[in-house]
Amino acid sequence: SKNNNDNPISLPLLDSKNFNITTSKSIQKISPASKNTSFHHDKKSVLTSSLSSSSSSSSSMKKFKKGKGLINDIISNSGMLENYTRNYKKTSAGSKSDISKIRYDTIDEEELDLDSKEDTISVYIRIRPFNDNEVKKGYEKAVFCEEDKRTIKLNCPGGKQRSMMYHSICDSYYSQEQMFEELNIKSLLDSALIGHHITLFAFGQTGSGKTYTINGLLTHPEYYGIMPRSFEYIYDKINSQNERKYSIKATYFEIYNEKIKDLLNPTNTSLPVRWCRNRGFYVESLVEQNCNKFEDCLDLLKLGNSNKSIGKHLLNDYSSRSHCILTLNIYSASKSNKSKLSIRQGKIHFVDLAGNEKVKESQTTGDSLVETMSINKSLLALGNCISALSDPKKREGHIPYRDSKLTKILSDSLSGKGLTIMISCISPSNHDIYETLKTLRYSSRAKHIKYKSIIKLNPEEEVNYIYIYIHIKII
Ligand code: ADP
Ligand code: MG
Repeated sequence: SKNNNDNPISLPLLDSKNFNITTSKSIQKISPASKNTSFHHDKKSVLTSSLSSSSSSSSSMKKFKKGKGLINDIISNSGMLENYTRNYKKTSAGSKSDISKIRYDTIDEEELDLDSKEDTISVYIRIRPFNDNEVKKGYEKAVFCEEDKRTIKLNCPGGKQRSMMYHSICDSYYSQEQMFEELNIKSLLDSALIGHHITLFAFGQTGSGKTYTINGLLTHPEYYGIMPRSFEYIYDKINSQNERKYSIKATYFEIYNEKIKDLLNPTNTSLPVRWCRNRGFYVESLVEQNCNKFEDCLDLLKLGNSNKSIGKHLLNDYSSRSHCILTLNIYSASKSNKSKLSIRQGKIHFVDLAGNEKVKESQTTGDSLVETMSINKSLLALGNCISALSDPKKREGHIPYRDSKLTKILSDSLSGKGLTIMISCISPSNHDIYETLKTLRYSSRAKHIKYKSIIKLNPEEEVNYIYIYIHIKII
């Protein structure tokens, strides 16, 4: 296995000090309608029954059973069993359109009551600067950011002007650091650290700056994109607190022509997407790599990127058709026995989408997306899901998540169970104005998608997390 690069006996939880995200107030009363019926069972019966139910379906559980004594030791040593005995309550945390307003250390119960609050996906626009070629060709600037930093003005063909509003706009002069601040990525990461599921996706035509925004140049810290900056922030935060123990594991894969290739194990080129009740949709057999420090994440990112490379003549076509998803699974357990919280799994998906220039909007309905040149089922399906989710009439009906691998994997994020932001990258040039308009329209639709973010905490799942944790360590 590729996963066992640290000591299998000690839990891979990172020690840390002075963490000031306090979530003890974020406990919400569990609703009577909740499915978590095993709530009031005593700890051991729940633990054993859940473990044995998963064992019947999994051959790998045999290994798990063999090590049961060891596992119980690990669980109780780490305080997990302690945490497990407490009365679990379902928690949820608040969401606001301006994520920066969330202060986890001061937040009170009322603010966290999501039954009365909903919000929408945050949509940000990033305008890239002109490149040398465009300057040489004399293309003109057709995209302008207004002073409020929220309104974008376009000079459209025929002398028409259009204005559209978004959560925030990063103008072309923004450095990577300014962009990272402007998009409030740190608040999102804080949420992931307390158990939320975060998705951050870059959208736009090929050459509009998606990869630059998400990856950046990994050789120069100044030009680091969102991923390496996020890695830095997360480990700084974890290492400066001592409330919770953390363990971070990462996966990195791409979807190219509806085939999933594991970028950490490139011999796996066609992995299936499966569904189960506790996990939702997931990619089977992905390498999940332990990342104990920033450098581990950076190395993993570089390794994955190098596994993307294919013949140069195909590079453009390739990068414009593949979706790359790096996921950090952030497992954490409270160190303090006083805390009401136990094990959680936060998650962050960083998604660098394929270029959207090959998907054309239907002239007849204006609603569905029709592909023209080549088949990019995932992007097409994403457009259809966004359309359906953003329409109040259709939202309650059937959402076609199952139409593509990408939408299956992102279904939780899109359906509003997590915090999602979309960064739409656009070119400043009049030459690209049609593509820019298309990107902006698509993004405007996404703005209407509502979400209620919750931290999932139910006993069965927790047992599974413990199981996943330890199982990974033992094999
Ligand atoms: P995409 O991933 O959308 O196809 P890229 O991120 O590869 O586009 O960007 C295309 C080119 O433009 C790259 O050479 C990249 O370095 C450059 N670029 C994109 N955005 C910026 C920016 N904000 N500042 C400087 N260069 C940029
Ligand atoms: Mg790219």
